[in-house]
Amino acid sequence: MNIALIAHDSKKELMIQFCIAYCGILSRHNLCATGTTGKQVSEATGLHIQRYLSGSQGGDQQICARISCNEIDVLLFFRDPINPKSNEPNDMNLLRLCDVHNVPVATNIATAEALILALERGDLDWREIGNPSL
Ligand code: PGA
Repeated sequence: MNIALIAHDSKKELMIQFCIAYCGILSRHNLCATGTTGKQVSEATGLHIQRYLSGSQGGDQQICARISCNEIDVLLFFRDPINPKSNEPNDMNLLRLCDVHNVPVATNIATAEALILALERGDLDWREIGNPSL
Protein backbone atom coordinates (compact mmCIF):
# COMPACT_ATOMS: atom_id res chain seq x y z
CA MET A 1 0.00 0.00 0.00
CA ASN A 2 1.07 3.58 -0.60
CA ILE A 3 0.93 5.67 2.55
CA ALA A 4 1.39 9.46 2.53
CA LEU A 5 2.52 11.38 5.62
CA ILE A 6 2.08 15.09 6.25
CA ALA A 7 2.45 16.88 9.58
CA HIS A 8 2.11 20.53 10.36
CA ASP A 9 5.09 21.88 12.32
CA SER A 10 3.46 21.62 15.75
CA LYS A 11 2.50 17.99 15.01
CA LYS A 12 5.82 16.77 13.59
CA GLU A 13 7.06 15.37 16.88
CA LEU A 14 3.78 13.50 17.28
CA MET A 15 4.15 12.09 13.76
CA ILE A 16 7.70 10.96 14.59
CA GLN A 17 6.54 9.21 17.77
CA PHE A 18 3.68 7.59 15.86
CA CYS A 19 6.04 6.31 13.16
CA ILE A 20 8.49 5.00 15.75
CA ALA A 21 5.63 3.13 17.45
CA TYR A 22 4.35 1.64 14.19
CA CYS A 23 7.68 1.33 12.39
CA GLY A 24 7.23 -2.42 11.92
CA ILE A 25 3.94 -2.03 10.09
CA LEU A 26 5.00 1.05 8.13
CA SER A 27 8.18 -0.66 6.91
CA ARG A 28 6.07 -3.14 4.94
CA HIS A 29 4.50 -0.38 2.84
CA ASN A 30 5.56 2.35 0.42
CA LEU A 31 5.86 5.65 2.22
CA CYS A 32 5.93 9.18 0.87
CA ALA A 33 5.78 12.50 2.65
CA THR A 34 6.18 16.23 2.35
CA GLY A 35 9.82 17.29 2.62
CA THR A 36 10.40 18.15 6.24
CA THR A 37 8.00 15.56 7.62
CA GLY A 38 9.71 12.87 5.53
CA LYS A 39 13.20 13.97 6.54
CA GLN A 40 12.46 14.02 10.24
CA VAL A 41 10.57 10.71 10.23
CA SER A 42 13.20 8.89 8.20
CA GLU A 43 16.01 10.22 10.39
CA ALA A 44 14.19 9.10 13.53
CA THR A 45 13.08 5.69 12.27
CA GLY A 46 15.36 4.68 9.41
CA LEU A 47 12.27 4.13 7.28
CA HIS A 48 12.69 4.66 3.56
CA ILE A 49 10.42 7.53 2.57
CA GLN A 50 9.98 9.11 -0.83
CA ARG A 51 10.24 12.80 -0.05
CA TYR A 52 8.42 15.45 -1.98
CA LEU A 53 9.00 19.17 -1.71
CA SER A 54 8.43 20.92 1.56
CA GLY A 55 4.81 21.83 2.17
CA SER A 56 5.57 25.53 1.71
CA GLN A 57 7.12 24.75 -1.69
CA GLY A 58 4.20 22.68 -2.95
CA GLY A 59 4.94 19.22 -1.55
CA ASP A 60 1.35 18.89 -0.41
CA GLN A 61 0.25 19.57 -3.98
CA GLN A 62 2.54 16.81 -5.22
CA ILE A 63 0.75 14.47 -2.82
CA CYS A 64 -2.58 15.90 -4.00
CA ALA A 65 -1.60 14.96 -7.54
CA ARG A 66 -0.94 11.37 -6.50
CA ILE A 67 -4.26 11.21 -4.65
CA SER A 68 -5.93 12.61 -7.78
CA CYS A 69 -4.47 9.68 -9.72
CA ASN A 70 -5.73 7.34 -6.97
CA GLU A 71 -2.15 6.34 -6.19
CA ILE A 72 -2.35 6.89 -2.43
CA ASP A 73 -4.10 4.27 -0.28
CA VAL A 74 -3.86 5.94 3.14
CA LEU A 75 -3.21 9.57 4.07
CA LEU A 76 -2.00 10.40 7.56
CA PHE A 77 -2.23 14.16 7.87
CA PHE A 78 -1.57 15.47 11.36
CA ARG A 79 -2.80 19.03 11.18
CA ASP A 80 -2.74 21.80 13.74
CA PRO A 81 -6.35 22.83 14.25
CA ILE A 82 -5.49 25.65 16.64
CA ASN A 83 -2.71 27.70 15.06
CA PRO A 84 -2.08 26.54 11.49
CA LYS A 85 0.57 28.61 9.71
CA SER A 86 -0.46 30.41 6.57
CA ASN A 87 2.12 28.57 4.43
CA GLU A 88 1.08 25.14 5.68
CA PRO A 89 -0.84 22.79 3.38
CA ASN A 90 -4.45 23.59 2.78
CA ASP A 91 -6.38 20.71 4.28
CA MET A 92 -9.59 21.22 2.38
CA ASN A 93 -8.14 20.32 -0.99
CA LEU A 94 -6.35 17.25 0.35
CA LEU A 95 -9.43 16.05 2.20
CA ARG A 96 -11.72 16.73 -0.74
CA LEU A 97 -9.55 14.60 -3.02
CA CYS A 98 -9.53 11.80 -0.44
CA ASP A 99 -13.32 11.91 -0.49
CA VAL A 100 -13.36 11.84 -4.30
CA HIS A 101 -11.27 8.66 -4.36
CA ASN A 102 -12.41 7.04 -1.09
CA VAL A 103 -8.93 7.26 0.37
CA PRO A 104 -8.87 6.44 4.10
CA VAL A 105 -7.51 9.55 5.82
CA ALA A 106 -6.61 10.39 9.41
CA THR A 107 -6.19 13.96 10.63
CA ASN A 108 -5.25 13.07 14.20
CA ILE A 109 -3.29 10.37 15.98
CA ALA A 110 -6.34 8.58 17.37
CA THR A 111 -7.74 7.90 13.91
CA ALA A 112 -4.27 7.22 12.54
CA GLU A 113 -3.84 4.43 15.08
CA ALA A 114 -7.18 2.91 14.13
CA LEU A 115 -6.26 3.09 10.45
CA ILE A 116 -2.81 1.59 10.80
CA LEU A 117 -4.19 -1.32 12.81
CA ALA A 118 -6.95 -1.79 10.24
CA LEU A 119 -4.28 -1.79 7.54
CA GLU A 120 -2.32 -4.46 9.39
CA ARG A 121 -5.43 -6.61 9.81
CA GLY A 122 -6.11 -6.43 6.09
CA ASP A 123 -9.22 -4.29 6.40
CA LEU A 124 -7.95 -1.97 3.67
CA ASP A 125 -7.06 -4.70 1.19
CA TRP A 126 -10.02 -3.62 -0.93
CA ARG A 127 -7.84 -0.72 -2.06
CA GLU A 128 -5.56 -3.14 -3.89
CA ILE A 129 -8.44 -5.15 -5.27
CA GLY A 130 -9.94 -1.94 -6.62
CA ASN A 131 -6.57 -0.80 -7.97
CA PRO A 132 -4.68 -3.93 -9.05
CA SER A 133 -1.99 -1.84 -10.74
CA LEU A 134 -0.89 -0.27 -7.44
P1 PGA B 1 6.68 19.80 5.53
O1 PGA B 1 5.26 20.16 4.94
O2 PGA B 1 6.60 18.37 5.92
O3 PGA B 1 7.65 20.04 4.42
O4 PGA B 1 6.90 20.72 6.70
C1 PGA B 1 4.11 20.12 5.73
C2 PGA B 1 3.85 21.47 6.34
O5 PGA B 1 4.24 22.49 5.74
O6 PGA B 1 3.22 21.54 7.38
